Amino acid sequence: MMQPSEKIWMDGTFVNWADANVHVLTHSLHYGLAAFEGIRCYQGKNGSAIFRLPEHVDRLFESAHIAMIRIPYDKKQVTEAIVETVRVNKLEACYIRPLVYIGYGAMGLYPGENPIRVAIAAWRWGAYLGEEALASGIRARVSSFTRHHVNVSMTRGKISGYYVNSILAKREVKADGYDEAIMLDPEGYVAEGTGENVFIVRRGVLKTTPLTSILEGITRNSVIQLARERGIPVAEERFTRDEMYVADEVFVTGTAAELTPVREIDNRRIGAGKPGPITMALQKAFFDVVTGEDPSHQAWLTRV
Ligand code: PMP
Repeated sequence: MMQPSEKIWMDGTFVNWADANVHVLTHSLHYGLAAFEGIRCYQGKNGSAIFRLPEHVDRLFESAHIAMIRIPYDKKQVTEAIVETVRVNKLEACYIRPLVYIGYGAMGLYPGENPIRVAIAAWRWGAYLGEEALASGIRARVSSFTRHHVNVSMTRGKISGYYVNSILAKREVKADGYDEAIMLDPEGYVAEGTGENVFIVRRGVLKTTPLTSILEGITRNSVIQLARERGIPVAEERFTRDEMYVADEVFVTGTAAELTPVREIDNRRIGAGKPGPITMALQKAFFDVVTGEDPSHQAWLTRV
C-alpha cells in the first residue's frame, strides 16, 4: 500500500488526498491515453531537492504532444505546481507523479472536446525494488512479452496505456519468483525493463540500448554523463540477450528503481553473481549527486 500524504494538486487547486477523485467515465480510464511522469525529490545535506525537474517537465510536455493532448498550463505553471505539491505536503524525500489525462465528456475513441485534466501527487516512496536490491542486485528474466514496436507505440512518450505491456511482463516474472522483467524489442534485441533502462558492462565498456525503441530515461542520461566524466567508455548500441548473459555486469536505471544491479538473468549468474565494481561506482556517484554530497551537478537539483 502507498503511504498517503495530505494534498493532491488537481486542475489548479489542492484537494485532500482522500477527495482526489474522478468520474468513472473519465476518457483516459477507459482507453489509456494519458501522459505522466515519475520524479524523485531527495533529502540531502543542503535540504530537499527535486532531481532534474526541468527535464521531467519537458518530457511530460513531449509525451502530451506525441499523444495530441494539449496541457492547459505552461511549463512554468506545471513546474511551480510540482514544487508546491512537495512543499504543501511537507515532504523531505518523495516520489512525485504528475498525470495529464482526458476527462469526462464524450465517450468513444474520438475524445473530441473533452477537458484535459492535470493532477500532481507526491508521497513517501522508498527503494522501488527494495533496499536489498540496491545493495545486492536483483534476479531478472527476459519476458515472453515483446516491448513496443516503434510504429505501434511511440516510445519517446511516457503514455499510460503503454504500461499495460509492462504490467503483463512484470506479473509474469513475479509469478515465477523473479524481481524484474527485461523486455526485447520486436527484432529480438534488448529494449528495456518494465520501468527501467538496461545497461551492461563488458570488458570495461558500458553499453545501453539506443533511444530508438525505449523511453528516453532521465536516469539513463544522468548515468551516461557520470560514466563519461569518470573516463568509462559508453556505447549506445543494440545488444542481445546472450550478450547480457556473458556481460561482466548488468544494471537497470529509472527514477523509481534508481540504479539497481542485476545479479542473475534467466537463471544465469551475471559476472561474479554480485554487483560489480563499475555498477557500484556509478550507483555511488548517482546517490552522491542526488543528495548533494557531490556538488558537481547542482544544475540537476531544484531546491524545494
Ligand atoms: N523505461 C521505462 C519503460 C520507464 O517507465 C522508465 C521510468 N520512467 C524508464 C525507462 C526510466 O526512465 P527515468 O530514468 O526517466 O525514470
